[in-house]
Amino acid sequence: MRNLIVLFAASLFALGASASEPVHSTKPAPDASTKADAAAKLAADLARPAKAVEKPAVEKDEKKGEKAVKPHAPLIEKPVIDKSLVEKPPKASAATADKVAAAVSASEDEDQVDLSVKIAERLAEMRAKQAARVAAAAKARKAAEARRKKEAAIAAAPKISNVWAYEGEFGPENWGKINPAWAQCGSGKRQSPIDIRDGMKVNLDEIDFDYRPAAFSEIDNGHTVQVNVAAGSFIQVGVERFELVQFHFHRPSEEKINGKGTEMVIHLVHRGARGKLAIVAVLLERGKANEAIQTVWNNIPLEKGQLGTPGIDLDPLELLPNRREYYTYMGSMTEPPCTENVLWMVMKQPMTASPAQMALFSRLYPLNARPLQESDGRMVKESN
Ligand SMILES: [Zn+2]
Repeated sequence: MRNLIVLFAASLFALGASASEPVHSTKPAPDASTKADAAAKLAADLARPAKAVEKPAVEKDEKKGEKAVKPHAPLIEKPVIDKSLVEKPPKASAATADKVAAAVSASEDEDQVDLSVKIAERLAEMRAKQAARVAAAAKARKAAEARRKKEAAIAAAPKISNVWAYEGEFGPENWGKINPAWAQCGSGKRQSPIDIRDGMKVNLDEIDFDYRPAAFSEIDNGHTVQVNVAAGSFIQVGVERFELVQFHFHRPSEEKINGKGTEMVIHLVHRGARGKLAIVAVLLERGKANEAIQTVWNNIPLEKGQLGTPGIDLDPLELLPNRREYYTYMGSMTEPPCTENVLWMVMKQPMTASPAQMALFSRLYPLNARPLQESDGRMVKESN
């Protein structure tokens, strides 16, 4: 029985130690020896009650009897009975003693069996709880680790947005950082617009404008007013042929010529073989009203982002100056994603729009021009 109790105490100690020990802790030896002491003490404590059960029963009764005898005479008889009971065992015969011993031993065996079952049950219960605690702690650690990894991934991921503007947080200085697909806006070496100067005067290929009146759709896209032109209008430059896709407006003009810009500019965007872009820029100064521009203004949809299809034709030839000399250089789109390898052709002769036409656009877009970009020694050619 004593062995069982000691075993139980040792098991308790083992469980207690493993339960209270943190996973990665390196506990100093003193604590461990304290635990060993505690285990020994616990074993002693557990062994003690077996004796204590017998002793106090007798002592208590004796004391009770003595105490009772003195103050109250009527209670004298009770202690006498108790005393005789206590004294009985020594007077009993040897046979009776053997019987008692056998009975005690039998009951002790039963107690031992009961106790060992209880210990086994308790140990199983504690082990189950311990296993549950370990499993719960492991689960919590796993969850915390997963949470930490997710947060780190979110923090490390570039913040992707399609929002850009001409001023402030989403302005031209930050276009390259807003979206990885727009990196060229920040790091490109052949960006537009540029200050066009020191052009090499050569016999440039004429731009052969093969434009025709066609249906169009129109949108205020939040950055400009854009007119999408029906298929069928082309330009031919040397051997290259490009189809007019759309035109739109900037205020003030993005491009400058020898440091000088104009109040507005029209960009006519063409697409050639393998998606190569060719953009014709027509500078706008105050003067006579322009009919094609008036048609565009008349049909601006009431809501931003809404595509209007007026159901009339528009002749893009009305946007072009009479003289066809131009400057040319290789650059980029002037808005995100700032794609390079764009053939720019800037007409030397500006067109005019009336002050009222200028004023109308300025109410929608007082500023929608990208600042000048580094020319970086790029070649500029101009018509003789
Ligand atoms: Zn443009």
